[in-house]
Amino acid sequence: MMRGHPVYAQMGTTIFEHMSGLSRELGAINLGQGFPDDAYAADNALTVGLQDAAARALRERSSQYPPSTGVPALREAVAGFYSGRGLALTPAQVIVTSGATEAIAAAVLALVQPGDEVILFAPAYDAYAPLVLRCGGVPVFVPLQPPAWQLDEAAIRAAITPRTRAIMLNDPLNPLGTVASSKDFAMLAAICIEHDLIAICDEVWEGVRFDGITHASLISQPGMAGRTVKIGSAGKLFGLTGWKIGWMVAEASLATLLTRAHQFLTFTTPPALQWAIAEGLRYSDELFAAQHRQWAQSRARLGGGLRAAGYVVEDNQATWFLCIDLAASGVTLSDAEFAERAVREAGVASIPISALYEGSAAPRNYLRLCFTKPDAQIDEAVDRLAMLRNKVI
Ligand code: GLN
Repeated sequence: MMRGHPVYAQMGTTIFEHMSGLSRELGAINLGQGFPDDAYAADNALTVGLQDAAARALRERSSQYPPSTGVPALREAVAGFYSGRGLALTPAQVIVTSGATEAIAAAVLALVQPGDEVILFAPAYDAYAPLVLRCGGVPVFVPLQPPAWQLDEAAIRAAITPRTRAIMLNDPLNPLGTVASSKDFAMLAAICIEHDLIAICDEVWEGVRFDGITHASLISQPGMAGRTVKIGSAGKLFGLTGWKIGWMVAEASLATLLTRAHQFLTFTTPPALQWAIAEGLRYSDELFAAQHRQWAQSRARLGGGLRAAGYVVEDNQATWFLCIDLAASGVTLSDAEFAERAVREAGVASIPISALYEGSAAPRNYLRLCFTKPDAQIDEAVDRLAMLRNKVI
């Protein structure tokens, strides 16, 4: 390979791209990368309304550079959306990004200096560690332990050194769909304040919670407002992942710093999509509730089908994902082996959780499946996975 930065020279394609690529090539059902199938989204009034709004904006409004921090209408709408949900914000605190992944990159670029240690939890979204490394930082992983995957105060404290600069928290957690408790938030806030840490909070799943669990954020904890970057995603809130509209929210001086990193990363984000999302954030609670019912039904359908097929499915409280415990389901193959066989032999793409760990300490028995798909696809995928289980156990 061409000489380049060692972080990239030693890296493969992301597991999401790998599985979606195989899925396209083999014509498999794609329960790997997290996105709603287009046919599924077509049954969702919220998504359809936004597609109309974007088409209108494309035809009738400007196609030229919007302000780097986002169109005013969207910054206002994001601030209004959160203010209506208990987090008072001004539009000046909102920076629109090209997806949450760009927001994460901008936050790490703005805040991590060479030698800084950053606490990450494992499993973690695969972008975190390479970004920290690319900035010369040192990712320090604190593993979450199955079956509860809870934040462990002693393990976090043991990972902190005088060089620790930041903590990255994904809550709700992809891939397990667990949600931090109010005790966890108080504990994390106390640690951040005590050690003068910044919290980079990836909250893209904030709108995808089940069983009546409401979202909370570290940014709302006493003493945390000035040291937290809260990251959100329209892709997840509205099931429009390809639009790549995200945002970061922070107090004024932190927000200014973040805008400096963002202005030389993507600079800005397509305006028509921003105007559409600005409309969407003002949609009625009933439209959000209808979308939520659709997700909840699909979650129950996939979970019920997999359990009936003999799989042990982990409890989840959030996200579009259910995770199977392969070992508990009688499957002795590793998650990576099972995922490869599932896509090639059974025609179902999935994500092996070990791909979301760095190093060798990963559990090798969990498989993630995305459920935002039409009923017929879910049922067919369950039948195929049932057959594969019978073949391999
Ligand atoms: N967040 C998405 C997921 O977990 C993946 C995004 C990506 O493919 N980069 O499926």
